Amino acid sequence: MRYSAWQVLKQGLGGQSGWKPVWRDPQPKPEYDIVIIGGGGHGLSTAFYLAKEHGLTNIAVLEKGYLGGGNVGRNTTIVRANYFLPGNSEFYSHSLKLWEGLEADLNYNVMHSQRGLINLFHSDGQRDAFARRGNAMINQGDDAILLDRDGVRDHLPYLDFDNPRFPVYGGLYHPRGGTARHDAVAWGYARGADSRGVDLIQQCEVTGIDIEGGKVRGVQTTRGPIRAKKVAMVTAGRSGQVAAMAGLRLPVESHILQAFVTEGLKPVIDHVVSFGMGHFYISQSDKGGLVFGGDLDFYASYAQRGNLHMKEHVMEAAMALMPVFGKARVLRSWGGIMDMTPDGSPIIDHTGIEGLYLNCGWCYGGFKAVPASGFAYAHLIAQDRPHDTAARYRLDRFRTGAGLMDEEGTGSQHNLH
Ligand SMILES: Cc1cc2nc3c(=O)[nH]c(=O)nc-3n(C[C@H](O)[C@H](O)[C@H](O)COP(=O)(O)OP(=O)(O)OC[C@H]3O[C@@H](n4cnc5c(N)ncnc54)[C@H](O)[C@@H]3O)c2cc1C
Repeated sequence: MRYSAWQVLKQGLGGQSGWKPVWRDPQPKPEYDIVIIGGGGHGLSTAFYLAKEHGLTNIAVLEKGYLGGGNVGRNTTIVRANYFLPGNSEFYSHSLKLWEGLEADLNYNVMHSQRGLINLFHSDGQRDAFARRGNAMINQGDDAILLDRDGVRDHLPYLDFDNPRFPVYGGLYHPRGGTARHDAVAWGYARGADSRGVDLIQQCEVTGIDIEGGKVRGVQTTRGPIRAKKVAMVTAGRSGQVAAMAGLRLPVESHILQAFVTEGLKPVIDHVVSFGMGHFYISQSDKGGLVFGGDLDFYASYAQRGNLHMKEHVMEAAMALMPVFGKARVLRSWGGIMDMTPDGSPIIDHTGIEGLYLNCGWCYGGFKAVPASGFAYAHLIAQDRPHDTAARYRLDRFRTGAGLMDEEGTGSQHNLH
């Protein structure tokens, strides 16, 4: 079913009885050409682009819970292309271009809103670093505007500009940055893949990966064995556990990241604002809730909830920058599991086992990567060579040291990214 204004009108007049389920609920077949482990944003976009770009449709996406129930539905929805280093810069630039055509591509409203992102700076040294980053973004073909203090005040009059610890010096403005509705992104890709013939199988946990003679043969699942010519792992915070089923030990640690949302307020924040010095960022959802977060909880865990010390830290930072929101009531907080690599950048690569592929290491920035990651991973799986935009995301960089990326310039230490 194609969605359109006409369809909304027709269904409205017909008592809303003609809508079809957004995807099928198929039984797993005994064999597929490609099995994708993980029905998060990256797994679903991979299936979609395999079908759309490469004409491959004998594919199953196996999800242990429900589609979109992982980090793709738990993030704070920021979409941007403001990366600094070669390797990341072209990849996220490509992703933003895909975002800009995504709703038409999927025929689905993912509520992509390019409301602009402002990264604040609070010292001369930080201004220099953001000026460099802005130049790199412009060289990549993306947009960046360096704002002075008055320029920030024009956009964000509600900030405490004279906070004694972190007075605002200015900000790097990325007008094409913004947000999207996270679970709609999962649903849109799921619908697009399903309509092209991909089987989306929920409540199907992969418990083993079958390998014979250095070649993948299929997977064991809670719904029985499934044979496959190719198997693609894409399980974000669970990547280490799933890769261990193939005898692989990944350079990935799983850490908690929390998010918070307040009661609905009238429109007040019409950008995404990032306060790196305080480890705090915020935007306002279309329902009115202030959506915000901070840094990792800084201990490895598979729990999808966080601890009070980080809640306190995030609230403190919020009050330092935006005391105006002191009376807003926080309704909910939750946590997700981040697959942190030592250089803060992802992996999209072969594993060394024939037919077995790896996509992981999205750290706390993998939502904005969903389109380009699926696009590049599909290319790798279909053609057995990396896509140009993801050529640096090699697994062996952590073994050889060659090609390591260091997004924040802080050294190869995941806790500092
Ligand atoms: C609080 C928070 C805020 C964030 N904010 C942002 C942001 O603003 N912008 C941004 O770009 N990124 C953000 N991120 C990061 C982003 O959400 C993740 O990097 C991204 O969603 C990870 O990829 P995914 O969507 O494929 O993961 P997931 O949705 O976690 O998908 C992986 C799936 O694999 C499934 N799975 C695991 N093991 C198995 C198994 N054995 N068998 C079958 N299925 C399995 C899981 O159930 C899960 O559904 C944030 C994350 C969190 C938690």
